[in-house]
Amino acid sequence: MTELQQRCQDIAARLPELEADCLLVSSAANVRYLSGFAGSNGLILLTPRETHFFTDPRYSIEASKNVQARVHIVKGPLSAGAAAVIRRKRLKKIGFESASWLYDEYLKLQEQLPLGASLVPAGKVIEERRMIKSETEIATIRESVRINSEAYERALKRIRPGVRELDIAAELEFQMKMLGAEKPSFDTIVAAGERTALPHAHPGDYRLGGNELLLIDMGASLHGYSSDMTRVAHLGRVSRRVQDMYRAVLEAQLAGIAEVRDGTTAGHVDSVTRNVLRKYKLDKAFVHSTGHGLGLEIHEMPRLGKKDPTMLRAGMTVTIEPGAYVEGVGGIRIEDTVLVTATGCEVLTPTSKEFVSL
Ligand code: ZN
Ligand code: ZN
Repeated sequence: MTELQQRCQDIAARLPELEADCLLVSSAANVRYLSGFAGSNGLILLTPRETHFFTDPRYSIEASKNVQARVHIVKGPLSAGAAAVIRRKRLKKIGFESASWLYDEYLKLQEQLPLGASLVPAGKVIEERRMIKSETEIATIRESVRINSEAYERALKRIRPGVRELDIAAELEFQMKMLGAEKPSFDTIVAAGERTALPHAHPGDYRLGGNELLLIDMGASLHGYSSDMTRVAHLGRVSRRVQDMYRAVLEAQLAGIAEVRDGTTAGHVDSVTRNVLRKYKLDKAFVHSTGHGLGLEIHEMPRLGKKDPTMLRAGMTVTIEPGAYVEGVGGIRIEDTVLVTATGCEVLTPTSKEFVSL
């Protein structure tokens, strides 16, 4: 049995507890996880014994080559194709991913179902399974992280006063593609000076001066798998205040990493980074959670947020990324991608965390 067949079988085994006869899988990442399909229009109907895959004629060649399921090419809405199988197999309780349907699509789906069939929200069963990565997935994420860090190193050499934030973002993305990534795993964040205080700044026309703080948050997507890293560097001189902030955030990040292991909760790791920043009166400047899972999506389960009870398990890949943002001063965030292991974690990101001067 292939890895993908195993995934389908494991999810199908949970149908009784969902009180469903089958599961309609519509979220793109979940469709890819179960079938290998990387296109934009795919739908899966999972029954206890079979995996039916629906797509439109644009993808018929790709589906016949890459999809490990019974392929149905549908002209028109894919849900109509699924409804035909539901009718033929006399399926009654149709599990579906309530978070991924637009209201209009949902109404259309309901109309197409045969009399007596009903839709049952199926929660996050696939997302839960996706939290624990297989050896193959870990190898891909490891390579995605390596490419991302290498692209950063290469682009860093070209940063000097006068370049725009947008130039730097373009160079980072050019380098990651040259190294084999298909695209950035999210919009690359490049922020200079006081704009570093915006945690999700979009790169703009701003040109770097001689004395400048620079925050880069970037990730590569390789065979669909994400990496995620944030580094802060500087040109010329930065204030004492910024240097102190950097040290505090680095201490928080290292303390967080030291707590990551199988059997600890996500919320515990978050409280550890927050407590370090509190010591430096920076806890109120830390306006997001400590990290997140990543894989086929850049943000997936678990979330490493305040009081999050989710147990970290060996095989999860998560980020550890505390930050501090002070308006008018600047922002610091340090982020690595780490792999949870039985005894601790492996920091996959190889990039130095020294506060480098470019
Ligand atoms: Zn990031
Ligand atoms: Zn992140």
